[in-house]
Amino acid sequence: MTVPDIIIAVDGCSSTGKSTFAKLIAKEFSFLYLDSGAMYRGVTLFAMEKGMIEEDVIDETALEAALPSLELHFEHSPQGTNLFWGSRCIEKEIRTMEVSAYVSPISALPFVRAWVDELLHLFSKGGRVVMDGRDIGTSVFPNAELKIFLTASPKVRVKRRYDELISKGQKTSYEEVVKNLSERDYIDSHRSVSPLRKAEDAFVLDNSDMTLHEEIIWLRGLIQGRFGIFE
Ligand code: C5P
Repeated sequence: MTVPDIIIAVDGCSSTGKSTFAKLIAKEFSFLYLDSGAMYRGVTLFAMEKGMIEEDVIDETALEAALPSLELHFEHSPQGTNLFWGSRCIEKEIRTMEVSAYVSPISALPFVRAWVDELLHLFSKGGRVVMDGRDIGTSVFPNAELKIFLTASPKVRVKRRYDELISKGQKTSYEEVVKNLSERDYIDSHRSVSPLRKAEDAFVLDNSDMTLHEEIIWLRGLIQGRFGIFE
């Protein structure tokens, strides 16, 4: 069977399980996985390390001038997808609470969004691609063949994020996670450029009380029905 180029967009708030879900699609159906949030986190790490964030103020002029010099790319292996800044793997650094604290204001900057969007299109040329984020189905790929919008209860989301950070050895508190998630939700859904919202034609999945196995079954039905792909 000749398989046409297919884009699957997985959007939703922070810690709704988007990346786990998108990686599952990639593995089950041989799609290339692209994590758009990682790109915004990469830009944030860059701004932090270059001294462009001082006392919570972002030097937008300096960031806009320096952004073209930033080289971000993904490397894919059977073990997973990792983001690189030049030859440096930054997968771990971009997941810290410090980066999480600044990523939403950085990603609300229109020139940052335009820069990331261009790279996401470049990375997606050809084949089957699954991408997760906030605006993939509404703005980055409004014509995506399949759009999924994930939701989960606030309680479940906080627990997932807290457990994830602790398992990675990071120091945080429940309160800090609650604060960070609610701040990011607010900024992400109220910014003027491509705010987080559900695309009208997206399938919604509330996975608060679902096991990963149940999510796979839901997913298989959807993907097989839509594309006739059985593996
Ligand atoms: O997905 P993740 O939580 O890693 O994304 C980090 C941040 O990047 C989000 O809180 C949001 O501010 C930003 N983001 C975005 N648009 C996307 C993906 C992520 O604005 N498509």
